[in-house]
Amino acid sequence: MSARAKAMRAQGIDVISMSLGEPDMDTPEHIRKAAKDAIDNHWSHYGPVPGIPSLREAIAAWHNSQFPILNSQFSIDDVIVSVGAKMAIYNAIQTLINPGDEVIIPMPSWVSYTEMVKLAEGKVVSVHTTFEDNYCITPEQLRAALTPRTRMIILCSPNNPTGSVYSNSQLEQLFRILQDWPDVFILFDQIYNQLIYTPNDPINDQMVNNQMVSRLIIVNGVSKSYAMTGYRVGWLISKNKEFIAACTRLQSQQLTCATMVAQKAAEAALTGPQDCVDEMRRIFAQRRELICRLAAEIPGFRFREPQGAFYLFPDISNVQIPNSQFSIPNSQFTKDNSQFSILNSQFSSKGDFLAELLLEKAHVAVVSGSAFGEPNCIRLSYAISTGEITEALSRIKEVIIH
Ligand code: PMP
Repeated sequence: MSARAKAMRAQGIDVISMSLGEPDMDTPEHIRKAAKDAIDNHWSHYGPVPGIPSLREAIAAWHNSQFPILNSQFSIDDVIVSVGAKMAIYNAIQTLINPGDEVIIPMPSWVSYTEMVKLAEGKVVSVHTTFEDNYCITPEQLRAALTPRTRMIILCSPNNPTGSVYSNSQLEQLFRILQDWPDVFILFDQIYNQLIYTPNDPINDQMVNNQMVSRLIIVNGVSKSYAMTGYRVGWLISKNKEFIAACTRLQSQQLTCATMVAQKAAEAALTGPQDCVDEMRRIFAQRRELICRLAAEIPGFRFREPQGAFYLFPDISNVQIPNSQFSIPNSQFTKDNSQFSILNSQFSSKGDFLAELLLEKAHVAVVSGSAFGEPNCIRLSYAISTGEITEALSRIKEVIIH
C-alpha cells in the first residue's frame, strides 16, 4: 500500500498514507551527530559479531534500569546486536525452530513472524484473539494451543497492529502456564515498549523464575522509539548461554556484524538524553487521542483505544458501503461468499476491499487486516501529523457515509 500510495503521489494525486510502520519524526540531532562522529573516527572496520561491546553494555544497562524483567541482571554477554529487531527475531527463530516444530502466534500479529517461522520450516499455530479480550491471548487459549511439539510462543507488547499491551497480571498468568512446558521458548518482542500511553508496572521479579529465565528471549531496538528505522539496529537478549552461542555462530556466517556507524548512533540513543523519547511519546499520545475521537464518529468502526505503538485497528465488519460509492463505470459491489469486488477486481476480505476503496476514492492508504491475520479489520498508522489525521479521517468518513 505504501508503494502504491507513493506511485499515486508521483502522478500528482494527494494521497495521505496511513500505511507506514515508522515514526514520521527526524532522528534526534545528538544521535545524527554520533553517526557523523563515528564516520570521522573511522568506525569503518568489521566489528565483533554480537556487536560493539560499549553498545551491548549500554543495552544491558538500559534494559536493567528501564525494563527490568528478571531477578538476575542482564550483562553484555547476554546481548546480540543485529540489523534491526527483524533480523534478531529471524536469528532466534532460525536458531531454535526445526522442521515441524510448532510456534504459537497470537493473531492479529506483525506480518513477519509467520513468514519467518515458515522459512525455518516450522509450523505456525495461529491463535485468534478477540476484540473482547483486547486482542490478547487468554490463559485458556494458550493451554489449548500447547502441544508436545510446541517450541516457541511469540508475544508482542505493545502489539502491532492492535496497540494492545499485556498487563502484568495477564503476563503472569501466561508465564505460570509456561512454567510447566520446559521446552517452550518465549520470544518477547518489546520494540514498541517506550511508546506506551497507559502506565504499566515493570514486570516483577517473581514473574519469571530461574527455570524460565533461560527460555525468555527479549527483542528490542532503536527503530521505533528513536525514529531510527533506516539505521537498522536491533537486538535480542537472553540469559541462555547455549542459545546466545548458537545465535552468534549463525550471525557470524550470515552477517558478520551490524553496521558499525549505525551501532555507534544506537549507543548514543541509549546513553544520551531521553527527552526526545518523552517528546515523541507526547506527540503520539495527542495523535492517538485525536484519531480515536474522529474514528468514533465513523459509522461501523469498532475499535479498542490503543495502549501503545502508533496504530488504530478498527474492526470494520459493520461498515455499510452505500451504493453511491459504486457509480464508477464497470464497478460492482457484491458480497457473495465473502467475495468483494470493485473496478472488476476481486477481494477475498472486507479489509482488503475497504483498503482498496479508501485508496481509490478517499486517497487514503491504510493496510488491510488480512495482512495481520484479521481480515475484517484495517490498520491506520497515526505516525502522521494531526492535520493529516484530521483530513484522512474526514475523507474516510465521507466515503463511508455518502
Ligand atoms: N517487531 C514489530 C512488532 C514491528 O512492528 C517491527 C517493525 N515494523 C519490527 C519488529 C522490526 O523492527 P526493526 O526496524 O528494528 O527491524
